[in-house]
Amino acid sequence: MPLLYDDLVCRDAVELASDYLEGALSWRRRRSYERHLRGCPHCRAHLAQVRSIVTELGRAEPGQLTDDARADLMDVSRRYREERSGDAEP
Ligand SMILES: [Zn+2]
Repeated sequence: MPLLYDDLVCRDAVELASDYLEGALSWRRRRSYERHLRGCPHCRAHLAQVRSIVTELGRAEPGQLTDDARADLMDVSRRYREERSGDAEP
């Protein structure tokens, strides 16, 4: 796995995905996240999944995610982490 990111590991990136799509990240976190995405196809795939959930629910506005949507997203993130566990992480 390329180590192009400075302060983010996949674990962090997964947790930032929904906030990123909601526009809830500070510019600094957003920039770190985007930098991580560029070097990490796995997190790009995860973001695509999260985005499809958000889009499906028509809740792409910041702060508009329902509890159900959040639960779905957490589920995706949890599964993602489980799938990725065992892989080399920094
Ligand atoms: Zn990653």
